[in-house]
Amino acid sequence: MHIVAIDGPAGSGKSSVSKACAKALGFGYLDTGAGYRALTFAVQNLGLKIAYQSAEQISHNFDYAISQDPDNYWVKVGNLDVTYEIRTPEVGSGVSEFAGLPQVRQYMLTLTKGLVQASDRPGIIVEGRDITTKVFPDAKTRILLTASEEVRLGRRSAELPEGTIVADQVTRRDQNDSKVVDFLAPAEGVILVDSSELDFDQTVRAVIALVANK
Ligand code: C5P
Repeated sequence: MHIVAIDGPAGSGKSSVSKACAKALGFGYLDTGAGYRALTFAVQNLGLKIAYQSAEQISHNFDYAISQDPDNYWVKVGNLDVTYEIRTPEVGSGVSEFAGLPQVRQYMLTLTKGLVQASDRPGIIVEGRDITTKVFPDAKTRILLTASEEVRLGRRSAELPEGTIVADQVTRRDQNDSKVVDFLAPAEGVILVDSSELDFDQTVRAVIALVANK
């Protein structure tokens, strides 16, 4: 199976670009940030306990499921569809704290590898922060998708409700996240795609060309 690992900061366009590339290539699409967000939602709203829990205990108590179909995206915790709930500012401002816990990262690593292994497509695009470095350092294609801070803030503000303080949502989260994993500079062998000067279609075409090259 062709694993395409894509990392990048918030607002880099990772999710929408990855989804469009997966559709065009007939690949699966796996959003790993959704797992961290759903876990945060479950801690905040469903009484999930994380402190002093091992990765195995989290796996036992957190009933998580995510679609890998780029045409039909959903995220569930138990029977609850949390596709939209995990995008709230509450989840956005709480997620970095939980993503910094070693047992949570260990749980997500095992989860992600298992989900990819179960995929029945010829390839899969896996996007996040530590996919090119920690989760799939041997992926066939490894890409770091970035854009200048100005461009990323502009893109995010178009997605969020009017009046939201975008710098809080994006810059602060990236600062906290980058203390845990470095996704601001490409690791050895990782191809940098800077989308600051590219529109959406050009970015999608650039990524597809890199995948097709392998
Ligand atoms: O990709 P997204 O912005 O939805 O990710 C939400 C959060 O999940 C990030 O801010 C980061 O804290 C965490 N995350 C991570 N490692 C990943 C993917 C996401 O730590 N591979």
